[in-house]
Amino acid sequence: MAVPKRKTSPSRRGMRRSHHGLAAESHAECSNCGELKRPHHVCGHCGHYDGREVAAVGKALKGVVRV
Ligand SMILES: [Zn+2]
Repeated sequence: MAVPKRKTSPSRRGMRRSHHGLAAESHAECSNCGELKRPHHVCGHCGHYDGREVAAVGKALKGVVRV
């Protein structure tokens, strides 16, 4: 088994961990209701995507003609 020759210094360890930070989640406003939503995802508030309703939120989609 390969074994490190020297102990990793605090500086080296810090340099390695400099990439470990968490970035903020990206978000965009829903064009239908204005709520913040994830880009390229169905709005969790109103169920719209690309200008039309694609998911039922709080009500049934019965009778809705899908285009
Ligand atoms: Zn919405």
